[in-house]
Amino acid sequence: MHIEYDRKLDFKDVLIRPKRSTLNSRSEVDVSRTFRFVHTGTEWTGFPLIAANMDTIGTFSMARALAPFGAMVAVHKHYPADALVEFFRGNLASNAFYTAGSTAEDLDKLAYVKARTPLTKISLDVANGYTETFLEAVARLRDENKDAVIMAGTIVTAEMAEALILAGADIVRVGIGSGSVCTTRDLTGIGYPQLSAVIECADAAHGLKGQVCSDGGCTVPGDIAKAYGGGADFVMLGGMLAGHDECEGEIRHEVRDGHKVPVAMQFYGMSSEVAMKKYYGGVADYRASEGKTVEVPYRGEVKATVQEIIGGVRSSMTYIGARHLKEVPKRTTFVVVGAQRNTVFDR
Ligand code: 5GP
Repeated sequence: MHIEYDRKLDFKDVLIRPKRSTLNSRSEVDVSRTFRFVHTGTEWTGFPLIAANMDTIGTFSMARALAPFGAMVAVHKHYPADALVEFFRGNLASNAFYTAGSTAEDLDKLAYVKARTPLTKISLDVANGYTETFLEAVARLRDENKDAVIMAGTIVTAEMAEALILAGADIVRVGIGSGSVCTTRDLTGIGYPQLSAVIECADAAHGLKGQVCSDGGCTVPGDIAKAYGGGADFVMLGGMLAGHDECEGEIRHEVRDGHKVPVAMQFYGMSSEVAMKKYYGGVADYRASEGKTVEVPYRGEVKATVQEIIGGVRSSMTYIGARHLKEVPKRTTFVVVGAQRNTVFDR
């Protein structure tokens, strides 16, 4: 048995210290970034925010709504193959990841779509990125898709970030147990405080010219600013984008003043019982459900939420004097707060 005594941090454990700057207004900052990907040599420019590949969030309509902001969507894998072909032939494809699972069926579907579209971004998605077979799958995917940007995860430690990039991933997805509808930490005891995971994985990935995507655990725009400050190149969101018109999921209505109005939407983890029943006919015996189902308030169009997120990030950049998003990590000093309660031992 081994204990790590280093303090590890979640978003809530820190604040960003303001710094003197020449920026007077949030309109003076630029939230877009350009990345050159290590294995493909291709470039992408935009606002590096990604809607999670959950069937409620990673929808075609989310892709349409996020495109004007330059943000991305990891399209969920449960659309029929022909619907995916049509989507990835269209002009929203440049800001979208095709989500591939690791089963034979998933790989057949990928081959079908790839044969019919110029897929440029693939996200290989597994709950546990620590298996040997996952590393092999990344290497195989790289071999068979020389021109596609590959995002792979999830993982939370520097040595796996390095291993994934060396195996062929351009972007590593960082986060285990941090998701808002994830129950992995409760059920298994496994996890890693998200901000520290991002900081450590970014350091490792950047050394190999790879990128990291912080996945899960953001609940307010300030968390997204902290993720960028910690070195995240991309930030993936589930819960913060839930409850909007662009999402899939049951809507609950109430009658108010004689009118039926939407008040809440169902949002669930991709390995929750709800998702398992929907796609696999139930939770398999060998694996417990590691996701839960919640109701989130109905919030109308996602546009207003994205504007609020961008407003928060811009304002944060103004406070630290970062004119471009790329400068944010260099200009970030985190102040650790709540030191008494939030030690690694009482999580
Ligand atoms: P959020 O932004 O809601 O905090 O986190 C979204 C992330 O949670 C997703 O991108 C995905 O990595 C993770 N996630 C989604 N569904 C499940 C689930 O059922 N179980 C677990 N362990 N993680 C999930």
